Amino acid sequence: MDASEGVAELEGTAGRVEVDDKRMINCRADLNQLVPFKYDWAWQKYLDGCANHWMPQEINMNADLALWKKEGGLTEDERRIVKRNLGFFSTADSLVANNLVLAIYRLITNPECRQYILRQSFEEAIHTHAYQYCIESLGMDEGEIFNMYREIPAVAKKAQWGIQYTRELSDPSFTTGTPETDRILLQNLIAFYCVLEGIFFYCGFTQILSMGRRNKMTGVSEQFQYILRDESMHVNFGIDAINQIKLENPHLWDQAMRDKATQMILEGTELEIQYARDTMPRGVLGMNAAMMEEYLQFIANRRLMQLGLPEQFKGVGNPFPWMSEIMDLRKEKNFFETRVTEYQVGGALNWD
Ligand code: FE
Repeated sequence: MDASEGVAELEGTAGRVEVDDKRMINCRADLNQLVPFKYDWAWQKYLDGCANHWMPQEINMNADLALWKKEGGLTEDERRIVKRNLGFFSTADSLVANNLVLAIYRLITNPECRQYILRQSFEEAIHTHAYQYCIESLGMDEGEIFNMYREIPAVAKKAQWGIQYTRELSDPSFTTGTPETDRILLQNLIAFYCVLEGIFFYCGFTQILSMGRRNKMTGVSEQFQYILRDESMHVNFGIDAINQIKLENPHLWDQAMRDKATQMILEGTELEIQYARDTMPRGVLGMNAAMMEEYLQFIANRRLMQLGLPEQFKGVGNPFPWMSEIMDLRKEKNFFETRVTEYQVGGALNWD
């Protein structure tokens, strides 16, 4: 019996699914039955994700194209930031999507979490689409941008760091069920939700949104604003999932695993600091690499705290408080005032 299918004797003897049968990993209950719900937080995030639906082509890129093509429209340092970030993100979100579909999905044995993972996977596809749409709209050299994750060390190191945590789980014969393999899954969740989506995205998001705040590349910036809103929910889902797995399997969260998790967050922070230095050799857009370093340490402390681990950076503050405002943005509020952002998608329409 393959636990990831969880169809235990469909005919006859298997009893009805009870809430108490449901478990995040290694569950034996039928995974084709969504209800009764056990993890309301997962279902709620699925609903919230759907309510935030958006598509890249809805955002007007004309002003961006004019500025990008205009002689002296952007400084060389600003152009570097746009290119590096489109280079990093265009492949990073595909990496996240592939990890979700090929590694995580079958190992998370809970239908309401899987429902969210399906939604998240589509959002990752929309994000990759958004980067491709920006690259195409600006008439950039696609080969240069999409190959940055091979050719630019600060980008490549981040991608490689993530890939090492997906390789083993992507093997179709990998299964959980022992403390060792369960911990490998936990490490993957920490790597992807807390480090990739939770740290590696933050230097780039801050740089591009800072550009938008200065009325430059407002279309690219608006795309990133919607992506950031989705991504902060991805991180929150991942943290909830990890903490629920810890709750159900306290033996997995021993000192060695805590140390490993802390080490992963620290490594990720260091790589992102290197990325900040590479993308900002000088001060630009009212920020510099030193400020970004403090911001990333502030974010790292938050990720550690969310996992119940002690903070590692003493006395750091948030040099970019406006980032929190954007993340907490309610969907009816439009930061750049370029469009009405209240979404009423099919499922939310009122037919009366
Ligand atoms: Fe994501």
